[in-house]
Amino acid sequence: MTDLEFNKALVFFAHPDDGEFMAGGSMIKWVSEGKEIVLCVVTNGANGSNDPNMPREKLIASRREEQWEAAKITGISDVVFLEYEDCMVEDSHELRLDMIRQIRRHKPDIVIGPDPTMYFFGGAYINHPDHRRVGEALCAAISPGAATVPLYREQLYDKGFEPHHLTSALFGMTNHPDFWVDIEEHMEAKIKSVSVHQTQTPEFGDHFADRMRMVASASAEGSNPKLKYAEAFRAIHFRER
Ligand SMILES: [Zn+2]
Repeated sequence: MTDLEFNKALVFFAHPDDGEFMAGGSMIKWVSEGKEIVLCVVTNGANGSNDPNMPREKLIASRREEQWEAAKITGISDVVFLEYEDCMVEDSHELRLDMIRQIRRHKPDIVIGPDPTMYFFGGAYINHPDHRRVGEALCAAISPGAATVPLYREQLYDKGFEPHHLTSALFGMTNHPDFWVDIEEHMEAKIKSVSVHQTQTPEFGDHFADRMRMVASASAEGSNPKLKYAEAFRAIHFRER
């Protein structure tokens, strides 16, 4: 399956740049089709530099600016920063509540986030715990959170945040995809949107861009007909009530 009908998506991710890595090409494609996308960055990115001379507040500010720059390239004008501490994310009630609030505020048709079941990638990479926990909290925020009146009622329903039903959820950064988005036409724009996260990719160049094309090509494995460049997701389509 490579097509999904929706008007508005809310994309949750842990660190500034995860959104572009995970779904940058898809978001650029969807914006070009007139769909509305809102980004929700969970952490402040404060641990995203090994330079001992990098001041913490400067790094946080730079990463926020980079995220705005990337959103601009993607065509997105709405970015929410939840400002949780980088590397310290837990699947907490506080985070679930914050996510439900964003879902009820923005009323997207679909939400997107990282696959919470991913510990390892191909014997080469251990998934960042923030990615897993954002995915885990998001699952709880989607169901039962978004549509359940009594849950966190005082902070949500009683403050005017009405329950909201989603049609689908897509989980990226996954080894278990069953939904692919064709990003061939948007590959170069995706590379550009990642490249503006300069604190994360200071040596961004041809080599890095080639690697991103290789990842997008590998992500297309399993798509049918086989795409050239894809972003791959694990999809949940909720039954109509
Ligand atoms: Zn990350």
